[in-house]
Amino acid sequence: MGPMNIDGDLIHIPMATTEGCLIASTARGCKAINAGGGAITIVTADGMTRGPCVEFPNITRAADCKRWIEQEGEAVVTEAFNSTSRFARVRKLKVALAGRLVYIRFSTTTGDAMGMNMISKGCEKALSKISERYPDMQIISLSGNYCTDKKPAAINWIEGRGKSCVSEAVIPGSVVEKVLKTTVAALVELNISKNLIGSAMAGSVGGFNAHAANILTAVYLATGQDPAQNVESSMCITLMKAVNGGKDLHISCTMPCIEVGTIGGGTILPPQQAMLDFIGVRGPHPTEPGANARRLARVICASVMAGELSLCAALAAGHLVQAHMAHNRNGAAAAAPAPAPAAISSTTTIQASTPPATPVEREESPIPGSCIKS
Ligand code: ADP
Repeated sequence: MGPMNIDGDLIHIPMATTEGCLIASTARGCKAINAGGGAITIVTADGMTRGPCVEFPNITRAADCKRWIEQEGEAVVTEAFNSTSRFARVRKLKVALAGRLVYIRFSTTTGDAMGMNMISKGCEKALSKISERYPDMQIISLSGNYCTDKKPAAINWIEGRGKSCVSEAVIPGSVVEKVLKTTVAALVELNISKNLIGSAMAGSVGGFNAHAANILTAVYLATGQDPAQNVESSMCITLMKAVNGGKDLHISCTMPCIEVGTIGGGTILPPQQAMLDFIGVRGPHPTEPGANARRLARVICASVMAGELSLCAALAAGHLVQAHMAHNRNGAAAAAPAPAPAAISSTTTIQASTPPATPVEREESPIPGSCIKS
């Protein structure tokens, strides 16, 4: 899909999905972003987390351990953790108490690996160091759900997990009208009512977006990431504002928990490696460990922004249902030969972006990419 101008580089984005129209829709968002000069992205924090649970005979001992880890013990615990890997480096220790239970959230850099294996090893070593001082401490679980991996949790939204990224773009009003078939004012209004107020009404945590999970999961599958981490990785707040005297649109996507790696896990599979190569981030970065994984996170954050733009435009223009009926429920589309082996190559994703010709589509040809469910 794409290419998309991300930080000055034209990048094709690999996506694997069964969601009808997702690629065409995201491509439409890319087109609008490119016409505005491209996307800018930054990584504001980098730290994978693991939160073991340990238990003490009473709350006095538990509280003593918490205080020790937060004060004079911090350097000792950090040193033990760091000794287990060339790449894992503790950045933050956050400790919480629940009765006699103590939860220690280790936040660490992990080079170009997503880091769960690496960090688990470090935690084991750090816990054994803590137990030298606290022999009455019992290790309940190396993962105490204070991490939090693959479950909804406010701690991830607030503290971040993996790469914390932000992307932004300015789309000229004329492009909003020509490519996205709506207006700056309508998009801004839609974003406030749906992504901000609607999600607040629903009591959402980190769900202040239209469909970040759609794009993120498709790129995760194509590049060998752990798709179950889409729970927290898809947390995103999408903001839109009229700028330049109300003429143009400023859009940003803030994603605090993009958990990605370019080495380890599913990134060793040949098709996924080919896709990482395609973005220029396969394997370990030769000179700056972590730079490949951070670049992948930035590409994902920009891609999510393209998806947000296109779906929100479709909703603002009232095109969602029409396009959905045309592309997702259409017999011809359903009967079309499946791309082989799966839509994870750039070639197949580009094929997938060609919308089927249907009567509805001919009537509504300006909106081929606007049928994404959210
Ligand atoms: P994960 O922790 O994401 O499950 P693994 O621990 O399975 O990943 O894979 C990472 C492995 O790759 C580690 O053994 C690590 O030492 C090695 N490695 C080599 N180069 C790098 C790098 N640049 N960044 C991270 N890990 C690297």
